[in-house]
Amino acid sequence: MKIRDRVLIVEDEQSISSFIAAVLEANGYDALTARTGSEAVSAITSHCPDVILLDLGLPDMDGMGILKFVREWSTCPIVVVSAREHERDKVEALDAGADDYIVKPFGTSELLARIRTAIRHTRTPLPNSDIAQSGQFRAKGLVIDYDKHQVLVDGENARLTQNEYKLVSLLGKHAGRVLTYDFIIRQLWGPGAKSDNQILRVNMANIRRKIEKNPAQPEYIFTEIGVGYRMVDPD
Ligand code: CA
Repeated sequence: MKIRDRVLIVEDEQSISSFIAAVLEANGYDALTARTGSEAVSAITSHCPDVILLDLGLPDMDGMGILKFVREWSTCPIVVVSAREHERDKVEALDAGADDYIVKPFGTSELLARIRTAIRHTRTPLPNSDIAQSGQFRAKGLVIDYDKHQVLVDGENARLTQNEYKLVSLLGKHAGRVLTYDFIIRQLWGPGAKSDNQILRVNMANIRRKIEKNPAQPEYIFTEIGVGYRMVDPD
């Protein structure tokens, strides 16, 4: 029998918490719930969940505090589920170590997809741009060939520059997750790199011209406005 992944739902609103728990149980997960920050902390330390769904607005503490607390000692995937839809909230949560961010209200298929992505990333070796990744990433007509350092679209070499390739391969390694501008800049150009979103935007515009049929309506790399970029899930 397959071992069910355990998801901790940190949410103070009973109706939302029960709804998510029912969706998860129906889709093969074990759901645990916590209604306050202190319940969450004790559940995390005693049950070692496979994924944490974290509401930011909790009665006794801010979810950001829990996020930072957990990140001091654990790499357990954390998906923030919050009504806060401002870009700065998303950026702050992702930069503090959240793996993903979902704005309420959300669809169940979106929630399940984000959970699958978060778990997949803990089961694969940690992506590290220092270690050359081998193999291929495939999504629809897009192929990233990590061995040949090439990106193909419908079988044709997209002829990316070195920087463009690095950006696409980084997004491919984290496919399904939104990567913040700062994270991307640090990964591509080192921890001391100046945060300059303009260079990223120029690179992304060039990449889209090369890989997307309609750069204004991308099907491979999505912009999370004010936050960062997300590569489509692989096939
Ligand atoms: Ca709340």
